[in-house]
Amino acid sequence: MAICSTCGEWTEPPLLITDDHGGVHIACPQCGHREPFVQRPLHFVSGASGAGKSTLVPLVRRSHPDYVIFECEAIDFWRFEGPPGVYASLHNQWLKVAWEIALNDLPVVLIGTALPAQLDACTMRSRFSTIRYLGLICDDEELARRLRARPAWRKTRNEQFIAQAQGYTRRLREVGEGGTAAMTLVDTTAMLPDEAAACIVRWVRASHIPMTQDRG
Ligand SMILES: [Zn+2]
Repeated sequence: MAICSTCGEWTEPPLLITDDHGGVHIACPQCGHREPFVQRPLHFVSGASGAGKSTLVPLVRRSHPDYVIFECEAIDFWRFEGPPGVYASLHNQWLKVAWEIALNDLPVVLIGTALPAQLDACTMRSRFSTIRYLGLICDDEELARRLRARPAWRKTRNEQFIAQAQGYTRRLREVGEGGTAAMTLVDTTAMLPDEAAACIVRWVRASHIPMTQDRG
């Protein structure tokens, strides 16, 4: 409930309370009314420009039309408020949308350039029981080659852009290997797109919990 069904108060970001039996409820801050709240898992694929995100989306879609897979950049992301590169309001909006879709008991795979700490800081993060991460990484040289091979209008050929993408990839590698958050790493350096897409499918299949089972 974004609006309390008892008093009409606006209840976002949600105030969640876990009862003695582990059940999660959303509580109205105004009147205290409570309703059961369904938290769902989310699959988040993170990767720098050139790591293979946009290439892999149609491949996963084709092989698994039952997965709802989409990119954060599917909308005009630069219109969202906030400091450049932070995108907290964008991520919050996508988490809202992803949660609505996840309530239909479909595996939701959101693809973007965000680190676990960035999504953890979102007010809408609490809608999900867990966010599972897969990091698409790639060697520095190969990443630079891919970005230089793009058409000039995409403005990915300059050294600053390439260094940023390589730096972001290093961060993903650190998170995945350092264990600061659970993240599965997929190195696309020498992989064919079909192979990388199959890795994503295997990862989703291994970690998606149908809602009926999730409820116990
Ligand atoms: Zn209320």
